Amino acid sequence: MRFTKALLVSRYERSFHRLETVEKAMARYLKELLLALYLARGYAYYLERLDALGLGFATLLYGAMFVALVLALWMTAHIRMTLVRHLFALVMFVSAVFFEVYVRVTDSYLTYSQFVSLVYSGGFIQEAAYQYRETIISAGAGGLLLLLGLGLKPRHRLPVPGYLPMAAPVLGVLLLSAVLFVRAGEGARGLPVMYTPLAYLNLFAYEALHNTVGPREPVRLVRRAGAVGHDIVLVIDESVAGNYLDINTPFGVHTGLETPPDGVTLFNFGYAASIANCSADTNVTLRYGGTRADYMRINSTLPSIWQYARNAGLRTVYIDAQRTGGNLQNLMTDLEKRDIDEFVQFDQVPVRDRDMAAAAKLIELLGDDRAELVVINKLGAHFPVHDKYPDAFMTYRPALPRGQFQDVADTGKRDGFNGQKDDWMLYRNAYRNTLLWNVGEFFRRIFQQADLSNAVLIYTSDHGQDLHERGNPGLNTHCGGDPVAEEGLVPLVVMQGAQLHTLDWQRAWAQNKDRSSHYNIFPTLLQLMGYEPAGVEAIYGKSLSEPTEDAFTFNYRFNARLGAVPEWKHIDLSRIVTPGPTQAEMAVGH
Ligand SMILES: [Zn+2]
Repeated sequence: MRFTKALLVSRYERSFHRLETVEKAMARYLKELLLALYLARGYAYYLERLDALGLGFATLLYGAMFVALVLALWMTAHIRMTLVRHLFALVMFVSAVFFEVYVRVTDSYLTYSQFVSLVYSGGFIQEAAYQYRETIISAGAGGLLLLLGLGLKPRHRLPVPGYLPMAAPVLGVLLLSAVLFVRAGEGARGLPVMYTPLAYLNLFAYEALHNTVGPREPVRLVRRAGAVGHDIVLVIDESVAGNYLDINTPFGVHTGLETPPDGVTLFNFGYAASIANCSADTNVTLRYGGTRADYMRINSTLPSIWQYARNAGLRTVYIDAQRTGGNLQNLMTDLEKRDIDEFVQFDQVPVRDRDMAAAAKLIELLGDDRAELVVINKLGAHFPVHDKYPDAFMTYRPALPRGQFQDVADTGKRDGFNGQKDDWMLYRNAYRNTLLWNVGEFFRRIFQQADLSNAVLIYTSDHGQDLHERGNPGLNTHCGGDPVAEEGLVPLVVMQGAQLHTLDWQRAWAQNKDRSSHYNIFPTLLQLMGYEPAGVEAIYGKSLSEPTEDAFTFNYRFNARLGAVPEWKHIDLSRIVTPGPTQAEMAVGH
């Protein structure tokens, strides 16, 4: 076959023209292309959100928000005034890169409360910028798609009034801020990330004006003269239900707390109300002293328990049996950690043995002749409890199948657990075996080996458990939005060396037993450190050494900042569930 020259030229020209058209179109829609490429980078983040939402009305709302925010972004890219467009492009770029760097460095979503604590740890930014420079550069490079997509000169004019593209990004941020405000900081997940820090900044400005956030204050309370000569220990267990322990109920699990050794006086304050039914909420409040009426402000602006302890001349030790590798949890920040002299985690210890490692560490600290504040975040009995105890402690049978969860300290996932009636029966048995080990054996070792003569130890748990004894459906044990009373029911025990004179525990004991709460612990700790009782009470409420007159409620909508209000659940002790005698119990003679 032969081609004439003319035919070849015309073919070449045609394809050249086609290419030219594509090129022209690309140039014309280059900004859209860059923005689309930038947004496409976040596909996993959007899909994760969609997956979490499932099918329903929430997905529809999410989709509408997503479209509105992308539309606003696209309009921003078509602002005619160069300076204004460049300004918006830069702000969006910085915001998006900030968000991405945070997520990649911490491997977790940037929540509003994390954002607030970041603002107040500004001192670390230089340090962090150096440490994470590679992540910052790579996120910045990705962000260039956004910067150019927004900033380049638009090649066509939108058929809308000129002010609309300028108003669009502002409206986008305001829309997201409004949603977050109503939802107390929640609701930005899965949406284009450049809006999120900007909306957080809005919320932050609102809160700063209303004094619910602010810089952390130094210690201002007055101490009576004299150094603290003894150790103060706060043991915070995990998911240990007050209604499953032998100190509170006849068929409860053996804890050993009923028979303290000679030389140790023990006060069982019985059932207590927890601060909240979620771990983080209770733990952070135990460390900062938030009260029912004023916890947002107190937790975010007043000194931590570490600051008070150091100011009283105590060395500060934190033992975290739940996390490893220096990971912080329960809303602890690097800033807070700076006031901890010794930070202990057990990276090399299997999950099952972490509470025993904590006991060994505590025994060592109690014997070192230094006055210390020790706070222990125990491993306890969080879901899953299949493998949290050794075979020798399988007293309650039949229990959950063994061998799948040896490496899991705690999880929100429920894979491998169906939550049927029979599953919960197995769960309760495994749970009790776990208590035998992580509470009973823990205290057996403490009582046998620790020198408690010069120490005050307060024992409680972060929250109780819903173990579905009434056959109520569901897979969760705590942290729910419509909790059973048992989720807020925790043990509260004080013990100290019999020769030690600290607070007058006996004075109000009969009045306070089964009637006090977590909220009484922080003021108790401060009084133990020698702070003036009147000053302590004015801010933090009543200590256990006086009639607590507690409301006996727990908070199940703790993140009640901005527009939201907390929800309180009162615990009626006449209606709580306690375990009955089982074959196993009768066999071992409990
Ligand atoms: Zn917990």
